[in-house]
Amino acid sequence: MDKKLLSGKKALIVGVANENSIAYGCAQMLKTAGAEVGITYLNEKSKPFVDALAQKLEPTIYERCDVTIDNDLDNLFDKIKQKWQSVDIIIHSIAFSPKEDLHGSIVDCSKAGFLLAMDISCHSFLRMAKLAKPLMPKGGALFAMSYYGAVKVVEHYNLMGPVKAALESCVRYMAVDLGPQKIRVIALSPGPVKTRAASGLEDFDKLMQRAEQESPMHTLVDIYDVGAMVAYLSSDYAKNITGDTIYIDAGFHLLG
Ligand code: NAD
Repeated sequence: MDKKLLSGKKALIVGVANENSIAYGCAQMLKTAGAEVGITYLNEKSKPFVDALAQKLEPTIYERCDVTIDNDLDNLFDKIKQKWQSVDIIIHSIAFSPKEDLHGSIVDCSKAGFLLAMDISCHSFLRMAKLAKPLMPKGGALFAMSYYGAVKVVEHYNLMGPVKAALESCVRYMAVDLGPQKIRVIALSPGPVKTRAASGLEDFDKLMQRAEQESPMHTLVDIYDVGAMVAYLSSDYAKNITGDTIYIDAGFHLLG
């Protein structure tokens, strides 16, 4: 990794829960590439786990961000304005669904569970983009994490499928909307990675086994594969890439 690839750029990463988080891989790779980073933690319960990682990442912004709490996002972006004045890169690496709505038959998921999943995992990306826009006067890059279950039916992915489909569609509309301001918007679609969010899916181990056996490269991806892609896509080398969903899955999606 070129240590000056992103020098002078400031990156906010939302979604670090622990050392297995995809967001942590992204934060580490962005920092390695020379970016100044800011990270968030969800709440007081998760803070001690994120504190340990913050010591390594030395973020210049470190704030609470629970997107379901009114004002958390506003406060976060106020801090960015005060400390950084502007921001170049935003990583949205968060998702949530109530367990009872995720398991079983998709038609049984409750309206409240569906709307909460959509709010946290999708609409919050639009809210972040709205707040980031005035802080990106010279352009920037916004990223969200999707999954193959957005475009194909993946057993047990259930309501997160339509939620990720909406997220990928938002990315396309946002890319067109924000393109004239040189703000690029990209969805990343990693293959299965063993994280806390993933452990909420039934039979996740089988999904990983399938990914390893059936992907053309017969390998699993890790959080640093995702981070390396984010670093490249954040750089000026990728200045004309926007609106797409980029797979990081050792080719698994090609065979579906
Ligand atoms: P993770 O559990 O490490 O990260 C999920 C994050 O979502 C956590 O940091 C959690 O605090 C955050 N979050 C949940 N509710 C929130 C709220 N109300 N406000 C703010 N943050 C909240 O798991 P992960 O797998 O790294 O997930 C990151 C993203 O990657 C998610 O969008 C997930 O759907 C996506 N993804 C994961 C995989 C995988 O196999 N792990 C594959 C493709 C995409």
